[in-house]
Amino acid sequence: MQSFADAFRDGETARKTVKLIEELAGDSKKYRIVHVCGTHEDTITKYGIRTMLPENVEVLMGPGCPVCTVPPNRIDYAIGLAEQGYTVTTYGDMMRVPSGLGSLQDAKARGHDVRIVYSIHDAVKMAEKTDNQVVHFAVGFETTAPTTASELVADPPDNFSVYSAHLLIPPAMMALMEMGVAQVDGFIDPGHVSTIIGEHGYREVAEKYSVPQVIAGFEPLDVLMSVAMILRQIREGRAEIENSYRRAVKPEGAPRALRLLDRVFEREDSPWRGIGVIPRSGLKVREEYADHDAAKRFSVETEASYEMPPGCRCGDVLRAIIYPWECPLFNKTCTPDNPVGPCMVSHEGSCYISARYGVEQP
Ligand code: SF4
Repeated sequence: MQSFADAFRDGETARKTVKLIEELAGDSKKYRIVHVCGTHEDTITKYGIRTMLPENVEVLMGPGCPVCTVPPNRIDYAIGLAEQGYTVTTYGDMMRVPSGLGSLQDAKARGHDVRIVYSIHDAVKMAEKTDNQVVHFAVGFETTAPTTASELVADPPDNFSVYSAHLLIPPAMMALMEMGVAQVDGFIDPGHVSTIIGEHGYREVAEKYSVPQVIAGFEPLDVLMSVAMILRQIREGRAEIENSYRRAVKPEGAPRALRLLDRVFEREDSPWRGIGVIPRSGLKVREEYADHDAAKRFSVETEASYEMPPGCRCGDVLRAIIYPWECPLFNKTCTPDNPVGPCMVSHEGSCYISARYGVEQP
């Protein structure tokens, strides 16, 4: 019997969808569709979806890697906290990401107390068992931020704080449109983020930029169908938010999680690695929770001291200007074992994903 997942990997349906994409795309114009999600990139690369599409339809990844996009000065701040003797916790992918002061892994190697946790709750438990200050370096998009918020409202121990580097996806999509350096004919909206913000979360993007958007799940047919739906919108002169992931995403998203985010965080202008400052794209802890906000409790001097390594084009990858394999260092001096830039460090970075699945320059 065919499983639920198999239904979204069916070869015959994929062939029919590709044929539909070919018909909708025609051959006179080039279309560039951008997605902003490491899991979508994994599906696209793993199943060779780019090779199925007609030549005039491209799908590129933008700033959808929650680790690669964390600006270096935030990592410097977290390292500074560790250097002051505090216990700093974070997720595994953050450890090797380079900043001006090296990486958190380098700080750990120098003897500072930097620990990997699987969830922020583990960090809270850690704080309950020590007198030392424990600071959780909280990164991630709308998907992760509610868990940070839920720990802060649950009255954590006095010696627990959060250093928030949470970022928001719709402002980054608008920044891509605003910069205009990459042609964007449509967005595949990220499934996980959409479970939280719903269809409504992309209204501002739609209202300001008249760009077709389709919320998609993570199976190969989800992605192919979203490409077809975007092309159909273009052909019919529409620029709407369509939801092809109704089995998980509601129009209103997850109201409880959204209320929690609003209660604990407020938006601030935030820098993104490789992109620059994006208005209202970051989440800072509200004054009511200042007792658990490391940015308010502890003072760390940081300077903007990190430059992308020579030759690394991670900034262009994050702005959907190039594919990873167009970087001259890709799979030569920059590999998953010896990453040069942040896009090769994280499992959600498109350089890492391309290298992992052995993608070569076509
Ligand atoms: Fe940077 Fe490496 Fe990606 Fe090139 S392949 S853009 S050096 S991370």
